[in-house]
Amino acid sequence: MILVFLGPPGSGKGTQAKKLTTEKNWPQLSTGDMLRTAISAGAHLGLEAKKFMDLGNLVPDSVVIGLIEDRIRSPDCIEGFILDGFPRTVPQAEALDGVLLKLSRKVDQVVFFEMDEKELVTRLSGRRTCTVCGKMFHVTFGPFHNQEVCEQNPLCNVIQRSDDLPEVIQNRLEVYHRSTAPVAEFYKKTNRLKSINAAEKPEVVFQSLKNLVK
Ligand code: ADP
Ligand code: ZN
Repeated sequence: MILVFLGPPGSGKGTQAKKLTTEKNWPQLSTGDMLRTAISAGAHLGLEAKKFMDLGNLVPDSVVIGLIEDRIRSPDCIEGFILDGFPRTVPQAEALDGVLLKLSRKVDQVVFFEMDEKELVTRLSGRRTCTVCGKMFHVTFGPFHNQEVCEQNPLCNVIQRSDDLPEVIQNRLEVYHRSTAPVAEFYKKTNRLKSINAAEKPEVVFQSLKNLVK
């Protein structure tokens, strides 16, 4: 099963991908996480990508396509995988179809996370992220971060992601409308798109998701 999670930033794709990964044997392939890992490692690719990410712009297609192409050839991707945050442009979607074709595979389903813009801003601006384990928190909705949470790892470090600052959020939403919304059209044309209401509570969204992919 090859799944693509598509939707605006803050629509909960990553949260839902993590939940589904624990139930199925499909790893979560998040280009955002891969890029942040490259940044923490001080890798050249990461430092180049950071310039785009800090402004809320997209990293060049060739970079993320390369990352994904390598990753989907790993043995843990044989049964399936969940693409979270990729493809984010039509050229990325076309490249993905090409890479999968070479492997005699295809995207089975695209889940579109539908959500209102105003709510996205609230979700993103209150979001806090652990740079070590990736766990997410929220200043209004919780889970809240204090010493009890994230304690499994003494090195845990909860911050506000630089692209979750208000000035940058607006640009990310604009970039989404300009470059990523057309990807939904791309998959609609080939009948691969199914929508879920991403504004519901995480458990409710997860139920809708499981109804789609069973
Ligand atoms: P969110 O979904 O909350 O916006 P991500 O972690 O998926 O966060 O992405 C963070 C940033 O990483 C994006 O704003 C972009 O700069 C970069 N990025 C992630 N995935 C891609 C991609 N497929 N193409 C281009 N840039 C990407
Ligand atoms: Zn942590």
